[in-house]
Amino acid sequence: MVILGDYHTHTIYSGGFFNVKHATGTILENAMTAKEKGLKQIAITEHGFSHKLYGVKRKNIDKMRKEIEEAKLKTGVDILLGIEANFISSDGDVDLKDEDIKKLDFIIVGFHTFAKAKNIVEFFKFRLPNMLHFHRKKDIKRNTLAVMKAMDKYPIDLISHPGSRMPIDFEAVGKHAVKTNTHLELNGRRICYKKEDIKKLVDMGVKFLADYDVHSAKNVGEVNKGINFAIKYNIPQSQIMNLEKFPQFKNYKKEEN
Ligand SMILES: [Zn+2]
Ligand SMILES: [Zn+2]
Repeated sequence: MVILGDYHTHTIYSGGFFNVKHATGTILENAMTAKEKGLKQIAITEHGFSHKLYGVKRKNIDKMRKEIEEAKLKTGVDILLGIEANFISSDGDVDLKDEDIKKLDFIIVGFHTFAKAKNIVEFFKFRLPNMLHFHRKKDIKRNTLAVMKAMDKYPIDLISHPGSRMPIDFEAVGKHAVKTNTHLELNGRRICYKKEDIKKLVDMGVKFLADYDVHSAKNVGEVNKGINFAIKYNIPQSQIMNLEKFPQFKNYKKEEN
């Protein structure tokens, strides 16, 4: 089994506070580990702009693109400029503007407790019930619709840690993921699918990406936990899109050499 790409890696651009960085590697360090481990492609995916503690700053996006070009030349690893954006409303809003999307190769969206809600109404309607870990039927219904609407509104490539701190109906989200060509994640740190969810997702043809959710350069390419889960629950290799092949992403056209 060969892993060709790791598409969820944070660097020091994900910010931090009190001089403590949320993630420790630089773009070049993440790419160097990728090279050492034989990976051909990675994505740099900092936390989205509305994350209060770890969000990347908009002004750094152009700087990151330059660093990526330099790191590509130094390592020979193909590097995508991505983001791990945030769900910020029950209506499927995400903290990305059209101008942001134009600059990015790859878009992840996930729910993060410390991302600001779109407005005060959505704070009470969407963020707070999830922060308080409510799992009522109406919470699941609201969250599921939010994810489905987001997949319609934005060119999302991957939903990160689905179900984590934002309970959803996996069957409905999975169907919509297939329809909109969105990957679901096998996140090395947080996997929320139950056995019965996985069987349904596999049968409906969901495409997965396995990763570690890297916060330290040494972990780039460490996808074992996701892969072990896939083996245990019979997810076929053909449905894990970063094994033995390169996934297709909506905003990214690989340059042919
Ligand atoms: Zn995340
Ligand atoms: Zn992450």
